[in-house]
Amino acid sequence: MEMNELFYRDAYVKEFDGVVVSCEKMKDGYGIVLDDTAFYPEGGGQPGDTGYLNDVKVTDTKRIEDLVVHLCKESIAVGTVVHGRIDWDRRFDNMQAHTGEHLFSGLVHHLYGYDNVGFHMGEVIQVDFNGPLSWQDVNKVELLANQAIWRNEPVIIQYPDEKTLSELDYRSKKELQGKIRIVCVGKEDVCACCGTHVQSTGEIGLFKVLTCEKHKGGTRLTMLAGSKAYAYVSMLFEQGQKISHLLSAPMEQLASSVEKLQKEKTAADGKLQQYVRDNLLQKVQNARVENGLMILFGEGVSRNDLRHCAKQALLQEEVKTIAICSKEDNSSYSYLIMSECLPLRTLGKQLNQLLDGRGGGSDELIQGTFLKEQEEIVTVLKEVLHG
Ligand SMILES: [Zn+2]
Repeated sequence: MEMNELFYRDAYVKEFDGVVVSCEKMKDGYGIVLDDTAFYPEGGGQPGDTGYLNDVKVTDTKRIEDLVVHLCKESIAVGTVVHGRIDWDRRFDNMQAHTGEHLFSGLVHHLYGYDNVGFHMGEVIQVDFNGPLSWQDVNKVELLANQAIWRNEPVIIQYPDEKTLSELDYRSKKELQGKIRIVCVGKEDVCACCGTHVQSTGEIGLFKVLTCEKHKGGTRLTMLAGSKAYAYVSMLFEQGQKISHLLSAPMEQLASSVEKLQKEKTAADGKLQQYVRDNLLQKVQNARVENGLMILFGEGVSRNDLRHCAKQALLQEEVKTIAICSKEDNSSYSYLIMSECLPLRTLGKQLNQLLDGRGGGSDELIQGTFLKEQEEIVTVLKEVLHG
């Protein structure tokens, strides 16, 4: 690879003129090759550029057999002089992310001796390191990366001769041959790379790690740099502000406020459950019993409480069968039926059929849900359980 294309000579070219030297029908459009180009082809973890050649959309750029191929929606005749426009915001995002990734990986390499063994740039930057990193380690590296950004150190790209290269200590994922392009990011990193980079660390702007998890014996990180990091932090700030208003709490105390709220909710839930259970137990004491059958309705009763109340009902001598239904949020009824004398397994199937129900159990106890209204449930229960 000669590495002499326009994007290598100047990574900041946004628009240029070129001549179409070939245009071939491809699977999803046309592959157009120019005499020279500022469009970066996908490689080294960096996505290919998008943009326009005249009015023809370039959806991606790839290197195929040493040629930079612009994947286009329409064909352009060989010999045509075209004006190329790169989607610069996207490309600059990628440059911020790529240099940011080098900076971070270089620091990890210096501090922990790990290599970057997998790199992908999409909505987020994803990097795999071949060693364990704790969240604390990651925070430390993140701060060092941001400090290098504030120092605005130069990013220098060189093609050293063989001798210089053999004496140079640099990161590289594979054994490289031919002309080697070395990217130095301040004092933090030296790495062989074919991507496009910003000119100084200050242009990375901001660096933020999002996640850190164990991966194949090493660590997988996701992170953001530049405009994407800024957009993310702004989004978090907006979310924080909304929560702050909802809780009437200052932004700095959101976590402790939510913790307090959670405790209050747990206590309130407990009280509510207690009330629901007491209320149902009272109904058990006062309910009518017809031919040994008691039918009760409640709302939001837990499975445990349904069972507890049913057992309490069966302690009454005249109760032989108890059916308790509890109205749920989705307007279905969860049911629990216990009996000392009826074959509930068989009767349960009948009930489910008549009441669009689901569930089952043993002859002594069945449980599940009914999808009909209370009135209809009562009628069917009486019909089926009176025998
Ligand atoms: Zn790189």
